[in-house]
Amino acid sequence: MNQGPQGMEHVEVQRVQAPGRASSARSGSTTAQSAVAVEHLTKRFGDRVAFEDVSFRVGYGEVFGFLGPNGAGKTTTVRTLGTLLAPTSGAATVAGIQLRPENGPAIRSRISIMPESPGLYLRLTVAENLECFARLYCLADRRERIERALRAVNLTERANDLCRSLSKGLRQRAALARALLNDPAVLFLDEPTSGLDPVATREVHELIAALKDRGVTIFLTTHRLEEAERLCDRVAILNTTMRLVGRPDELRARLFKSSLEVRLRAELTDPDAVFAGVPGIESWEAQPPSSYLLTVPDPDASAPEVARALVHAGADICSLTESRHSLEDVYLELVDEDVEAKRP
Ligand code: ATP
Repeated sequence: MNQGPQGMEHVEVQRVQAPGRASSARSGSTTAQSAVAVEHLTKRFGDRVAFEDVSFRVGYGEVFGFLGPNGAGKTTTVRTLGTLLAPTSGAATVAGIQLRPENGPAIRSRISIMPESPGLYLRLTVAENLECFARLYCLADRRERIERALRAVNLTERANDLCRSLSKGLRQRAALARALLNDPAVLFLDEPTSGLDPVATREVHELIAALKDRGVTIFLTTHRLEEAERLCDRVAILNTTMRLVGRPDELRARLFKSSLEVRLRAELTDPDAVFAGVPGIESWEAQPPSSYLLTVPDPDASAPEVARALVHAGADICSLTESRHSLEDVYLELVDEDVEAKRP
């Protein structure tokens, strides 16, 4: 929570950039360009390792997805970066400020964490909740900030409603408004759509996309892989140690070979003979009843050749598409590898 502007004194700010004018560091930014830079960070609770030797960077203006199975260390990482827990070892900068005990107030004044459970005072109205938190943050120009935050989440009309009368989706929006009160340089969202129905989920997605358009750096912890795929510039997959960081399409390319999927009206009598003659096909596998998955380094180059060979062989083609692995495929592949590796 904000300890007031005096917290900013004597603090080494490595880079301060106004939201919106930031160039998001999609592929590796320096510490000075990073909204969050984490170097070999470890947190242990006694003998229990919550996360270990974790390094990654988040560029200003980026939406960064933070994924991992239950118990992977995600919440502990966010609590550590949010200065609520001290790391056991390693270093980090958050909003350009080094993660050190004496910098806690300054970091907290430049970030917001929206936890999974909104934690609003249910017997207060939305506006009263925001007023209460704005006072705790010691914010000046509270009225304008509250109005701006309510507008940002489309909740102006409900400002005078008691929080207990709001649906779960609206409470989540009120919590998001609270998180925006201090104009955070980095906004940590912990499973913001957990338990929401599809319409409320879409509304939260639209709000996150709008915040991204305004240049807010968003650190999004989620178990919803389609949400990460849709919203995030880059994602990290944590399983106590960092398993992968990159753009969803990079991660797909790193883990899976590109392939073409062809669906025919009837199965081929001699698929070997057909596919052996097509340049670029590295291997193929039948997918009964009458489909084939062809591993090809360059799907665009191979697709016309494959179509020609199939027509020449007298096959009726129902569809010929590049087979796309989802982020969920990437995630499951990695997490399954970890489960395998832990088996005795
Ligand atoms: P989930 O997706 O279920 O929320 P997570 O990835 O957020 O999980 P964490 O809550 O960070 O995982 O927990 C990581 C590990 O650290 C777990 O083994 C957990 O039991 C342990 N842990 C977390 N907080 C504490 C604590 N205060 N004391 C002791 N162990 C803790």
